[in-house]
Amino acid sequence: MKKKVTKIGVLTSGGDAPGMNAAIRAVVRTGNYYGLEVFGIVRGYQGMIDNDMYKMENRSVANIIQRGGTILKTARCKEFFEPEGRKKAYENLKKLGINGLVVIGGDGSFRGAQKFSSEFDIPCIGLPGTIDKDMAGTDFTIGFDTAVNTAVEAIDKIRDTADAHDRLFIIEVMGRDSGYIALHSGVATGAENILIPEHKTDIEELISSLQEKEKRKKLVNLLVVAEGDDFGGGNEVAKLVKQKLPNADIKVCILGHIQRGGAPSCLDRLIASRLGYAAVETLIQGDKVNTMIGIVNNQLHYTPLDQAVKETQTIDPEWLKIVKILAS
Ligand code: ADP
Repeated sequence: MKKKVTKIGVLTSGGDAPGMNAAIRAVVRTGNYYGLEVFGIVRGYQGMIDNDMYKMENRSVANIIQRGGTILKTARCKEFFEPEGRKKAYENLKKLGINGLVVIGGDGSFRGAQKFSSEFDIPCIGLPGTIDKDMAGTDFTIGFDTAVNTAVEAIDKIRDTADAHDRLFIIEVMGRDSGYIALHSGVATGAENILIPEHKTDIEELISSLQEKEKRKKLVNLLVVAEGDDFGGGNEVAKLVKQKLPNADIKVCILGHIQRGGAPSCLDRLIASRLGYAAVETLIQGDKVNTMIGIVNNQLHYTPLDQAVKETQTIDPEWLKIVKILAS
């Protein structure tokens, strides 16, 4: 017989992503709708260890659906890697009577949730909140749409100045292990090529394609590079290209943290609201807990946490062919 969930905790952990607030709001309001007590846990797992948690009412989440960042703050918590840290966290939850947990974060946060739920009798639900999108078991992650649209807006602006000066721009976008922001923003802005961690880049081929374009006077070229590409990011790619094309006018632009901030897009608010609601319903029903809830083919999709942390979403290599053909 499953224990009835009466008090739940919600936290945001790891890298922040726009839309996390919308997810918190959905968890709090759905929880309160069903008569649960909802506690906000401050700074991710650190707040569980430090006993930094507070009761959230519907008013606690007023006016946040449109805000980036996370009102609960986020943190990376070393102590949670250790069994003693997790035990301390459990004891603090027990003291408050919290018997269900919603973790909004990326794969690292789910690794923590998976360990925690296997050690203690507190069911967990993971909601994918990451700008990187590279999680298996979901077509969307909270934050990706906003981040990639921020990148597109910035790259469009760079294209204007690249065009005015016939320049080669190398634009570095976020993605230490994932090329999704680079792929989507690169395709959407007509980039010459994209360099992503998932696929090896043939630098010689890239250079000869740039040389060939120079001959035909196609002088505006944008290369979109994920920060974790084979060569180590935009500046390193620029050095390699400069060696081979010493006359090229090359500029590097690193978009950086602007990709994390800002008001979440409509899509991110929608996903976050739907998933936050589903997380509470799932905790109450009790039969699909210790899962990450995603959306696949517009249906809710439940992936056991231990599986969610093992798998990542791959990028179909055909996309790279599409990029090259469309940039010719
Ligand atoms: P993200 O969720 O964005 O991938 P991190 O990888 O930084 O972010 O993970 C967030 C936090 O989750 C870590 O600081 C740590 O507290 C917890 N965590 C990550 N991996 C583990 C693990 N293997 N065991 C226990 N806790 C973990």
